Amino acid sequence: MLGNDPLRNVLYIDLTKKRFWIEDRLDLFEKWIGGVGVATQILREELTKGVDPLDPGNVIVFAVGPLTGNFPLASKTVAVFKSPLTNNWGESHAGGRSAIAIRMAGFGAIVIKGKSERPVYLSIHDGKVFFKDASGLWGLTSSRTAGRVLRELESGSGLRTIMRIGKAGRKLIKYANVIVDTYRHFGRLGLGAVFGSKNLEAIVIYGRQELPVTDKRRYREIYDEIFYKAVKSPLMKKYRDLGTAMNVIPLNNISGLPTRNLKACKFEYAGQISGESFARSVLARRASCAHCPVACIHIGALREPYVDEPYFYKTTFVAYDYGPIASIGPMLGLNNPLDILKMINLVDIYGLDAISTGVVLAWATEALEKKIISKEQTLVDFSWGDLNAYIKGVTFLVDQPNEFYKVLGEGVEFAASKYGGMEFALAFGRNEIPGYHTGPAGYISFLISARHNHSDSFGYELDLESLELSPEKTVDRLVEEEQWSQILSSLVTCYFAREIYTPTLISSALEVLGFNFSPDDLKKLGEKIHYEKYLLAEREGFRISKLHIPRRIFEVPAAKGKINEEFIRKALEYFSQKMELE
Ligand code: SF4
Repeated sequence: MLGNDPLRNVLYIDLTKKRFWIEDRLDLFEKWIGGVGVATQILREELTKGVDPLDPGNVIVFAVGPLTGNFPLASKTVAVFKSPLTNNWGESHAGGRSAIAIRMAGFGAIVIKGKSERPVYLSIHDGKVFFKDASGLWGLTSSRTAGRVLRELESGSGLRTIMRIGKAGRKLIKYANVIVDTYRHFGRLGLGAVFGSKNLEAIVIYGRQELPVTDKRRYREIYDEIFYKAVKSPLMKKYRDLGTAMNVIPLNNISGLPTRNLKACKFEYAGQISGESFARSVLARRASCAHCPVACIHIGALREPYVDEPYFYKTTFVAYDYGPIASIGPMLGLNNPLDILKMINLVDIYGLDAISTGVVLAWATEALEKKIISKEQTLVDFSWGDLNAYIKGVTFLVDQPNEFYKVLGEGVEFAASKYGGMEFALAFGRNEIPGYHTGPAGYISFLISARHNHSDSFGYELDLESLELSPEKTVDRLVEEEQWSQILSSLVTCYFAREIYTPTLISSALEVLGFNFSPDDLKKLGEKIHYEKYLLAEREGFRISKLHIPRRIFEVPAAKGKINEEFIRKALEYFSQKMELE
């Protein structure tokens, strides 16, 4: 097993002492495969219990898996850390070239600890880490400019990835993201703020190593099977044709599209901001993460006239997905692709998570309407659909001109706990709502999944099934799904390929790489990893009893009518018993 495979190497970097070293962690990769399985164990070893997420004692672990670089769609890197937004489990996945570069640089995981005295960026190649001065980058307003400078400075050979923060990360805004290779992000839960707290501006990684394969004939057969499934699958075709933006119309049709801070669940302009409309009006091209034949990344062209030259246009290429469209479009009442693209471009420039930003501004708009807060605090009259007001709002979020914006930078639940309006502060476990108002299973999954997000247990899909499940059965289905997700996150494959990467196929793919995991072993390992995550989350203070549920979700009918609060409370109680949580 694993033999001389460099996957077993873990690179440790101490920013305080400017030291690095490599450890052979075969013990971890043999038992936990890679990705989130291994990263969870490293975080447990390294993280000081109860540490403040913005303290130097917080730890970032990036990890990839044995399929990375070997098979299509194993294109993601998982990052785990303590989240400054939720003060608990932080986990984020990003593609681009990050995973393949880490793997080809000769590592299965990279661990970052401590805090640099001065702004620094890391250049990792040929088994070495170079700590480079980033003072010149630290003052830049645009993350795009920082990216261009880094590309110039770090123009070595090999497959290269650049991860970097923007102004939001440096300002420690708790939903700041990390931008990966222009169009991808470690988007949610505030990894950008953790970078900022460590004075870590960016990481550049070059990979040049070959990856070992023993049984080449069998490897080829399995590779082809995955590849052809990926290019022929109707689901993958949808991702390629319209991208995740294809979800706008179906969700709107079932009253599942949170609109104007979920005062409504249907957006009258859904047709104008649909995936089809984006494709017709702004789509410039598609792109792919490294080693993925699907190319689901949709990139729009934003043409804006120069201020003094009305007939000259600056064209910026901006990636769009369902999440940002839903949180910035219907949530703020913005109703055309160009306005939404402008906002996505701006949050990208600053390095803010688009979903959280949209939800925070939607709460501020309603709070202003209800006179819970005043214009003296917001400095601008937010009103639904007013692009210019929201552009100013995003800029204030990162400039933080007053106490109000400092508080908004802590997340919507924190802001509401200070000013009022908890009943319409749309966060779950302190993470802002992704754009799904489908029913109880969706909300239970936001509440109980480790990331408080939609994509660990796909509760929104369960809401759309015709079955009538009890609270207990709903939790069982969600937990089973999330347990399986741990295997995909350990490999680390793209979740869009979950229908392709079945237990049998994964078992065969691992076998040609020297791992022996039967489909049943994989299922049991998924359960274990899931349990380990909650053990760590509980250690850091996660309590079901502390979860806040905004009343708004019970007031606005979802696909099958109004959501029953009692149903959700019972589900939470059952989950707590099932997982033996306090
Ligand atoms: S399907 Fe899309 S997100 Fe997934 S690996 Fe391919 S390009 Fe990246």
